[in-house]
Amino acid sequence: MTALLPVAEALARVLASLDDKARPVVTINLIEALGYVLAEDVISPIAVPTEDNSAMDGYALRAADAAEPLNIDQRIPAGSVGSKLAPGSAARIFTGAPIPPGADAVVMQENCERSGAVLSVHEPVRKGQNIRPRGQDIGLDTMVLRAGRVLRPQDLGLLASIGMARVPVFKPLKVAILSTGDELVEPSGSVSEGTLEAGQLYNSNRYTLAGLLASLNMAVIDIGIVPDDPQATAQALQTAAKSADCVISSGGVSVGEEDHIKEQVEKLGVLGLWKLAIKPGKPLAFGRIGDTPFFGLPGNPTSVFVTFCLIARPFLLKLQGVAEPPPVTIMAAAGFSIGKAGGRQEYRRVTLNNTELGLRAMDYANQSSGVLSSVSHSNALAVIPPGTVVNEGDLLEVILLDSLA
Ligand code: AMP
Ligand code: MG
Repeated sequence: MTALLPVAEALARVLASLDDKARPVVTINLIEALGYVLAEDVISPIAVPTEDNSAMDGYALRAADAAEPLNIDQRIPAGSVGSKLAPGSAARIFTGAPIPPGADAVVMQENCERSGAVLSVHEPVRKGQNIRPRGQDIGLDTMVLRAGRVLRPQDLGLLASIGMARVPVFKPLKVAILSTGDELVEPSGSVSEGTLEAGQLYNSNRYTLAGLLASLNMAVIDIGIVPDDPQATAQALQTAAKSADCVISSGGVSVGEEDHIKEQVEKLGVLGLWKLAIKPGKPLAFGRIGDTPFFGLPGNPTSVFVTFCLIARPFLLKLQGVAEPPPVTIMAAAGFSIGKAGGRQEYRRVTLNNTELGLRAMDYANQSSGVLSSVSHSNALAVIPPGTVVNEGDLLEVILLDSLA
């Protein structure tokens, strides 16, 4: 028996096949840029805020004058500019308004007393208090965001805060997906027991993969169901490779005579068929059809999810120009035990519960690779390295599903 390929080694090989060729760049409206990948470093042309301003509704004054009653001789709402503060005077000021020249502190309105135009302050006043200094958020000419960043809502806000309205991003990848299997039927709407003929099942992988790709902001080219037939497989693979930046198939990568992916990809390009030390998963094909990278994922719905997330996803992100660290893992106590160590790295579907002793990972009752409910009804994958016996309470590394999809 050939040794199983460790997950980390498979991922390293897949990533090593990528060259440094930059993706095409398009410039789009900032308001539409959520989920796109920033293509250039952004340096700020301004300081944010552009000037010292008030963090409170209150009075701007000189800290050194605060012990004496002060004459309120100007009013500065947000959006307007005050004039130089005369000695012995204070300015009524509102949150966000620029600090007038000469003032060096703001006193909250709750901490002083006003009688007509005379202000008495009831607290010791420190220079700089309640003032947001110029550039406290972003300094002039400093790096705001680096190229390779997947833009999140807060990033869009940050770019807007320096005046950007258009943003250079990498053109999203087009990824073709095809589902192999004579047994597959597309969901059709009016379903009742008996809609499927004996031996048939609905094509769920198509939807899982399309969703996973959409969550990466990639465009899906849906090739549909491909019958277990050599010619049909070759034809579908060629069509897919012509129009896509990457092709992903599900099913048909085992070595039975109904599995045609290996043979057909080998005819059209190059292919490695690996037995991965991964559970759920195991068979995984990776290669090229012509110049187009190709992943042959296993057929089982849970294996599709896990192998996509662990192997194909990091590859696609890198191809897309993303320079992000891998998903964050956290530690949780096992709420289950595994008596017999397995030879494959297991990604056990678990639900994390917050207990007074910390996070506890409860595993879904049925961990079979055909049980897609195990992914739907979980919120994390607990990573169980090969050879590990797990006792309840042991600390395990877990990956949040929300960080993957
Ligand atoms: P295969 O790798 O083609 O032998 O498929 C392994 C298992 O996954 C079989 O039970 C298939 O019926 C099932 N399967 C394959 N493709 C799909 C799909 N697109 N949707 C749901 N189940 C699938
Ligand atoms: Mg099949």
